[in-house]
Amino acid sequence: MPIQTIPEQVTHLNLNIRGLPLSATLAINERCYELQQKGRTIYKLGLGQSPFPVPLAVQEELRRNVHQKAYLPVKGLGILREAVAGYHTRKQGIDCSGDDVMIAPGSKELMFLLQMVYYGDLVIPTPSWVSYAPQAHIAGRPVRWLETNPDNGWRLCPDELENLCRQDTDRARIVILNYPSNPTGYSYDESELKALAAVARKFRIVVLSDEIYGELHHKGEHVSIARYYPEGTIVSGGLSKWCGAGGWRLGTFTFPKALGKLKNAMAVIASETYTSTCAPIQYAAVKAFEGGDDIEAYLTKSRSVLSTLGNHLASRLNDAGVIVGKPEGGFYLFPDFSPFKEALAKKGIIGSTALCERILEDTGVAMLPGSVFGRPEEELTARIAYVDFDGEKVLNNYTTNSTNGHADLGFSSVITAIDHICEWLTEEGRALN
Ligand code: PLP
Repeated sequence: MPIQTIPEQVTHLNLNIRGLPLSATLAINERCYELQQKGRTIYKLGLGQSPFPVPLAVQEELRRNVHQKAYLPVKGLGILREAVAGYHTRKQGIDCSGDDVMIAPGSKELMFLLQMVYYGDLVIPTPSWVSYAPQAHIAGRPVRWLETNPDNGWRLCPDELENLCRQDTDRARIVILNYPSNPTGYSYDESELKALAAVARKFRIVVLSDEIYGELHHKGEHVSIARYYPEGTIVSGGLSKWCGAGGWRLGTFTFPKALGKLKNAMAVIASETYTSTCAPIQYAAVKAFEGGDDIEAYLTKSRSVLSTLGNHLASRLNDAGVIVGKPEGGFYLFPDFSPFKEALAKKGIIGSTALCERILEDTGVAMLPGSVFGRPEEELTARIAYVDFDGEKVLNNYTTNSTNGHADLGFSSVITAIDHICEWLTEEGRALN
């Protein structure tokens, strides 16, 4: 029998999708898997996944609710929406109720729904998380990138936002603010947030405040911009990072009353696509958002571990000549390898993609190039997700006095990975200078 071919027009792709690659974070994971299958030792600093186990009380709640099998309301389980609202009020003093909350299988899904329903520009500082811009592209929304300054911790400066808004004062815009930041690990302080809130209010911008790493602020001092711009801020969160439950797929949006129309429109799309979020997971999430002493203790320890490890790795990289600051939250570093630019160029390594490819090939350490976060290709930045360690073991071994002997705590893999990068740079530098 001749092989049947399918005519080209049958597989015609939507123009918004053509040429879009698989999300960089997932692609790097698949590449690591491939290399591991070939017997290579791979250090997975590419995908930003929490290394910690889900808190036991939340796991227990999931077990108790495994029998829950009904489709739940599109916007989420009532008691969970209440618990999320209560959480925001308790932690940030935000005045909201369960009605203002929407639950979905991941905050990524909620962001996509928002872009589908909102008819306006998406404004994103660079560098920013990998999926904001591709989602806008799929939804057919224009993207405006805003420059930030590495000397100012890659933070969005209010003047930059104001200059953009002045170009067309009536234009509808969503600006995404993400802090503690993926990819930089930096955050904003109260005065910076107030200044940004003032510009947002002046130009009636919708702020999507992606606070998914908020609980992982290393000092536990996360502040939501919704405190200063409550009428125009949607707060995005979920279980994926602070609760170690990325694969459970549960995200939350908390809307100001004035933006209820957006929430309702998003629910229409949700009702025609995923229907509702996994029932047992929603019941278990109630426990996570209600919190308690055990969950606070887990968070305090997680923050301390991430801070200690992040500072240690940043120092090690700095000593090797890489430019990188100490992280303030989450589990990322965004090093700049430009001091090695000439040496690398002589080896034919030009740009962040080539740099990451080569480091992966030569050392087995996977990181993501700065270009996938919206940085220029020629800039030698990369994102390190310092999560390749056994979070359960580390949490069990860790005490706040554990300032030495990191390897014994269970960090050895990630520390070896950073050592490999530093040694590779030394070899490259020595060979070429
Ligand atoms: N926002 C940022 C900055 C992230 O890093 C991620 C996940 O990596 C998400 C949102 C999406 O999280 P989820 O869809 O798991 O809630």
